[in-house]
Amino acid sequence: MKKFRILIFVFLIFFISGCGKREYSKVEFLMDTVVEIRVHHKSKAQAEKAINDSMEEMKRVEQRMSRFLPGSEVSRVNKEAFVEGKKGTLSAERPIPISDELFSLLEKAVRLSELTRGRFDITIFPLWEIWKFEGENPEVPEKAEIEKALKLVNYDKMILKNGEISFAGRGMGIDLGGIAKGYAVDGAVRVLKEKNINSAMVNAGGDIYVLGRKQGKPWRIGIRHPRREGEILGTIEVEDRAIVTSGDYERFFFSEGKRYHHIINPRTGYPADECQSVTIVAEEATFADGLATGIFVLGPREGMALIESLEGVEGVIVNKEGDVSTSSGLVSRIEYVNQK
Ligand code: ADP
Ligand code: MG
Repeated sequence: MKKFRILIFVFLIFFISGCGKREYSKVEFLMDTVVEIRVHHKSKAQAEKAINDSMEEMKRVEQRMSRFLPGSEVSRVNKEAFVEGKKGTLSAERPIPISDELFSLLEKAVRLSELTRGRFDITIFPLWEIWKFEGENPEVPEKAEIEKALKLVNYDKMILKNGEISFAGRGMGIDLGGIAKGYAVDGAVRVLKEKNINSAMVNAGGDIYVLGRKQGKPWRIGIRHPRREGEILGTIEVEDRAIVTSGDYERFFFSEGKRYHHIINPRTGYPADECQSVTIVAEEATFADGLATGIFVLGPREGMALIESLEGVEGVIVNKEGDVSTSSGLVSRIEYVNQK
């Protein structure tokens, strides 16, 4: 009987403290996308401070890793790769010292390249330069231009040694667009945890991490339908996980009826066309982000085999026809509302 009373007491404490939590949130435009942080906490002051510090961390990551910001560390690497204006004079003899933070992110990128057999490749930078997706009127580049740029794309020719980077090919460079958002999300979550937040969601334009539970239940996250704007394909129930989606609908243009989008196959130099979207669920957003991009290129069959082979990784792939496949560990946690 006494035990029972203690149990009721404990339950009441949990109930009251659970009820005392409110949701606080903030939305900002960062990294060329809409970033939202939601926190569940009892104290408004503590929640707001945690959210602000977390946003600051994402801004710091953007300042360092963006290839668009001329002052970023990544831009410095890409600039120094073109010594004294002579395009492509950088060589392995002239390594560039980089921060420990960038060095370890590049090591992670290499691991992702190995896992995806070269389909995820941050050295696509020279290709990105000629596709110009962010320009006013993007056009399909000349075949010869693509062939030329392709010769400069190969993560194997990016040498990471003693805290320095160098390239074995002339005119190479790096583009962290396929991994940096996830990395920023992981940073934001680390800051939230440091501030004793244990229930939160960080969403950087589809790169999501959910921390803990939401009011005692797993978070329910919608996966966007790749062809019906504003609609979802389904929802997944998750906690303490990253859910990252790469799709061909984020940045694209049409030319002669064909969709050209921003995920490029490093083997062909053209946008990958095997998938409409790839969603990865994993413990880390950095890893999930790179994997989603790489698997998008790898295609549904090999991509799903890779997901199944990786511990702690689950995923949903929509192929070019719009057919959906779900990894075995996710089947019981996903609810589809709109297939095809
Ligand atoms: P989003 O930016 O829409 O979330 P992704 O995470 O898939 O999508 O990243 C796409 C970005 O990754 C591109 O804008 C480009 O900067 C970079 N990228 C494109 N193709 C590749 C590739 N094959 N490997 C690595 N990065 C890539
Ligand atoms: Mg990605």
